[in-house]
Formats: sequence, structure tokens, C-alpha cells
Amino acid sequence: MIMINWQSEVEKRKEKIISETQEFLRINSVLDETTISEKAPFGKGIDHALTHLLNKGKDYQLHIKNVDGYAGRIEYGTGEESLGVLCHIDVVPTGDGWTTPPFSADLREGKIFARGAIDNKGPTMAALFAIVLLKELGLPTTRRVQMIIGTDEESHWRCVEHYFKHEEMPTFGFAPDADFPIIHAEKGIMDVTLSWNGHPQKESLIEIVNFHSGERFNMVPDDAKVTLKGERPHLDQIEEEFRRHLMQENHNGEARFEDDILILRYIGEAAHGSTPENGLNAGVELASFLVTNVELAENIQSYLEFVKSLKQDYHGKTIQLDLNDEVSGPLTLNPGLLTCQSNGQAQIGINIRYPVTAKGETCLTKLNELAETLGATLEVVDHMGPNYVEQDHPLIQTLQAVYERQTGNAADLLAIGGGTYARSLKTGVAFGPMFPGRKDVAHQKDEYIEVDDLLKMTAIYAEAIYELVK
Ligand SMILES: [Zn+2]
Repeated sequence: MIMINWQSEVEKRKEKIISETQEFLRINSVLDETTISEKAPFGKGIDHALTHLLNKGKDYQLHIKNVDGYAGRIEYGTGEESLGVLCHIDVVPTGDGWTTPPFSADLREGKIFARGAIDNKGPTMAALFAIVLLKELGLPTTRRVQMIIGTDEESHWRCVEHYFKHEEMPTFGFAPDADFPIIHAEKGIMDVTLSWNGHPQKESLIEIVNFHSGERFNMVPDDAKVTLKGERPHLDQIEEEFRRHLMQENHNGEARFEDDILILRYIGEAAHGSTPENGLNAGVELASFLVTNVELAENIQSYLEFVKSLKQDYHGKTIQLDLNDEVSGPLTLNPGLLTCQSNGQAQIGINIRYPVTAKGETCLTKLNELAETLGATLEVVDHMGPNYVEQDHPLIQTLQAVYERQTGNAADLLAIGGGTYARSLKTGVAFGPMFPGRKDVAHQKDEYIEVDDLLKMTAIYAEAIYELVK
């Protein structure tokens, strides 16, 4: 049996790991539509970063491949089967307010500050040095390890789409692009819309000119606005009622007139679509107020009634979709987009995240029934099936053992409602790079990676890779 002190092997290469990580972070690899070419489908910066990394792999005498500028591969070892380590080198735009320039990779207080430091170029370098370590130690393998380098993770995942269309899918793998210890279950994610065709509003005391809330499926809308037309005394009454309503519930919003149009605005609380219970859906709240306090045309009334029925229904109980399982918990539902026009044309966009052991078809059947009952049209805008690797899979067992050995902490398995890059693997989990308790600085100004974490994850990845390919 080969005994290796992974941490000390990494420490021996510390200076190199730090300086090469800095060097890599100094390349601006934001998607740049203006410099797209045939060999650089995501622009010059990303192409530069990809070429740079592949050349590094070559310097270390690893096998490399550039897959049409969409993605790359660095490979080591021999064997029929393969382990995939899926990383990405594109970064989100920098934004303002940085202490030091975002591509200077300044090293201070034991941290390297740069856009991409933690998401995902720092961990990419950790994965590269993990493979380099295996090579330098001359360790034998029965499987190949393939580092797969994505370049469009922050936008549309066109990189992995292209890669897996042309290249082999690894037997199993992990993506160092989320959290330690291990995320082994990610719910299915579905965006659907229910639409109602417009027809003229029947005679009503008050007419809705426009009702609108939310911009995205996966966010709880924190703002809702409605414009109302009607006879002044009635509108005055509604205005007063709305002010009282806001005061009673201690919420923000406003009621004002623009000429003879009454505008009501409700301010809620934003939250991610996977945790709707952490927010306050402004659209649903405003709809509830309108249903109770305003006499509206029947078709509009029934639309708003339906929206109101979803109030605080975070798990789809009202629409009989309250699926649940032990691994990943209950389905969540977020009505993120709500619109209704004066002609009765209305729409509701819902983000649904269903448990990993449930079937997407089950949800669709239920939703179709619902649409029929409501007289609406259902459209599936987007659907990603769940990602789930069972606890007793050798991949999980190995990663758990390695993590526990190296950190001394329990490697509890995590289930989430969000989606990680690991989904693009057939059998894959997210494994790091964020250690428990660390501040999440991805996509923020002054993004950084702690040098100690960078070294620790390199050691963890090296041992994990070795255990999985030996
Ligand atoms: Zn990422």
C-alpha cells in the first residue's frame, strides 16, 4: 500500500501553486460577445484563459485537448473507465467597488483577491495541481482522470453541451464548483407558465389597466404594481383602504394618483426561488388585497383568486403537488412572474423544484390537469431533471472518507434546491470548494480565495482523485 502525506506534498509546491493561480487569475475571462470568432466562440478573454490552462497541462506533460474553443480536457493515466473533474474558467463581470483591481490577483491577509478566485478559477488550479501531483509521484492508475474545462458556466452551459456531444462522458465524477462536503442531491427544476387569453373586461366598477410583478422565475418578486381605472369616489376608497392595509401589516408600498389612474405599489422581500419561504411575494400580496377589496370583472377576479390561493403555499399544497422525500425534502413553488392586462390577458410564471426521487412527468400531469381546470394554457419554459447519486455509491463513499481523513470533520451529505455544475455529469456530485462556515464571496466585489483553503482543497482533490483512479 502506498502511503502519501498529501498535505505535505502540496506544501512542498506551495509557492508554485500560489504564483500560478495568481497568473491564471490575471486573465480577464468574462464572456465577450464583441470578440467572438470561430475558434473563440465566447470571445478572446475566455479563449486566452483556456489556451493558457491547456498549455500549463502540456508543460506538466499531461494529455490535453482543445474541443473547438468550447471546452478543454487535461488527462492523466490509463484505463478503460474515467473519472471526470468538471471545472469552469469563465467568470461573471467584475462590477464596481473593488479594493484592488479585480484582475490584479492581489495577495494580502492570506487571501488572493480576484474575480474568479473561488468561482471557479482558483479551484480549477487546485484540481490541476492535484493531477500534477499524481503525475509527479508517478502513481499507477486503473482509470484515467479527465479534467474537463468548461467556458460558459456563468451563461448558458453551451460549453458542456458541445463537449458531451463530441467527447466521452466520464464513468463518474465531481465538480469543485459549490460546497464541501458533498452535494449529492439536487432537485428537479421546472419553469412553467399558465396563460389566459384576453377577452374584453365585462362591465365592472373598477378596471385593471395593468398588473405586474416579478422579472424572473427563480426570484421571489419584491415589487408589485397595479394601475386602476374607475369612478373617482370608488378609487378614493380603494386608495384609503390600501394605505390602511399597508399600515396594519407594517409593509412598504404606495398609493398615488396619476391623472385619474390609481397606482398601487406593494413592496415585498426578495428571496431565491428555491427558498420562497424566506421572502415575501409582493405580487401575491397585492393580488390578495385586490381580490378582497376591489370589485373587478369576473375573469380578472378569478385570475387574482388563483394567485391569492398560492399565498404562503411554498410547497404546492393548493395545486396538489406537495411531493416530498427524505433525501431532498419538499417540493418548492415560486410564482415569480405575474401579469394581467385590461383585456383579461394574464400570465403566471412558476418556478418549481421537485424532490430527487419524484418524476418530472408526475409534475407535468398535475400541472396539465390544473391548467384545464383553470381554463389556462400550460407551457414548459425550462426543465432540468434532478441530479442524485445514492449514498452507498462508491464515488460518495470515497469522497466522504477522503474529506473526513483530511479535515477531521464529518462529511455529511447535502441536498439542495439549486442547481450546480455537477448536473452536467451523468453520475456526478458537487465536491467543494467552499468549506463550511466560509463567507460566500462568489460573484461579489473583492471575491477571494484563502490561500490555506486553496492548498487544503488541492490536497483533498489529489487524494480523492488518486483513490478513485488507482
Ligand atoms: Zn461556478
